[in-house]
Amino acid sequence: MGQGDEIHITASIGISLFPQHGGDPDILISYADVALSQAKAEGRGCFAYYSEELTLAARKRIELETRLRKAIEQHELRVFYQPQIDIDSGRIIGAEALLRWLDPVEGVISPVQFISLAEETGLILEIGEWVLRETCRQGKQWLDAGLSPLTLAVNVSAHQFRRSDIGALVTKVLSETGFPAEQLELEMTESGLMESQDKVMGLLNKLRALGVRFAIDDFGTGYSSLAYLKHFPLDSLKIDKSFIDDIPHMQDDMEIAATIIAMGHMLGFKVLAEGVETVEQLAFLQSKGCDAYQGYLQSKPVPPDEFVKLLSWHGLKLS
Ligand code: C2E
Ligand code: MG
Ligand code: MG
Repeated sequence: MGQGDEIHITASIGISLFPQHGGDPDILISYADVALSQAKAEGRGCFAYYSEELTLAARKRIELETRLRKAIEQHELRVFYQPQIDIDSGRIIGAEALLRWLDPVEGVISPVQFISLAEETGLILEIGEWVLRETCRQGKQWLDAGLSPLTLAVNVSAHQFRRSDIGALVTKVLSETGFPAEQLELEMTESGLMESQDKVMGLLNKLRALGVRFAIDDFGTGYSSLAYLKHFPLDSLKIDKSFIDDIPHMQDDMEIAATIIAMGHMLGFKVLAEGVETVEQLAFLQSKGCDAYQGYLQSKPVPPDEFVKLLSWHGLKLS
């Protein structure tokens, strides 16, 4: 930095009040610190006042983080599989790998409850790597057991793109496990793609050259920018469940779903609908030419052994 360069400094401020919040200087400072974390979380140059709920929320977060770290060490994480079905043939063509935390006391904990915390704390790097390796390991085991080849889809967080070399990781895991690259699909959200476009582009091209496929998850809820659909080497769009939920009652949602299907096809993508729960929804999607779906209508995400049973009911038996 040279002389005369302008530097802009911003401040985040956490505020605790005497005597409302306490009479002891140490306590007031620790409360101001809690408020400061809140101010920082709200963005740069903000201020926040201390409140009891903040301490409670901060405490709960720390508690959950500690439990999650222990869960990783004690092998309490599992991958469940939700079948993806080809609409025309009705056959299972793949599965989405979905993370579950089997807590000995609370039972099954949904990823909705801990993925964002894992992202904030950086634990997502370790967890994401584990999910990828476990899914590829399982996929290879199924192939070796004579199961028909299926595409297995793994969710990849934007944080993994930002903070780790996902290209190197996928290459390593594929070679370690022997799972064929053509059977691996990575699901990313629109925000993940938009954040570091040049970096992501290089990475997608590299992995795609190996045969790995890419899907946009929750399509329609983010930027839904047509520019990036054209720009990035993608294979499929997953229509977000929120557009499927009110079919056939909400005209708007039906039009949005039909438009995504038509647009996706025009751009050369496969289109899959998420969260299909009723035969009416499926019939509508079929009438619009949607390629595939997943949802409770067919099955919830299930443990690997139940997934194999599902396959055998579908005639995709172990040979
Ligand atoms: P997603 O990737 O969009 O996954 C679809 C979610 O919809 C799953 O929730 C699935 O169980 C649920 N779902 C599927 N069909 C139906 C249906 O018919 N009705 C209803 N009500 N729900 C349905 P889940 O498993 O709780 O996962 C939630 C989110 O957590 C996922 O959304 C994904 O964003 C994230 N997630 C899950 N596993 C991983 C992971 O390994 N890595 C990362 N980064 N994120 C993950
Ligand atoms: Mg997904
Ligand atoms: Mg989704």
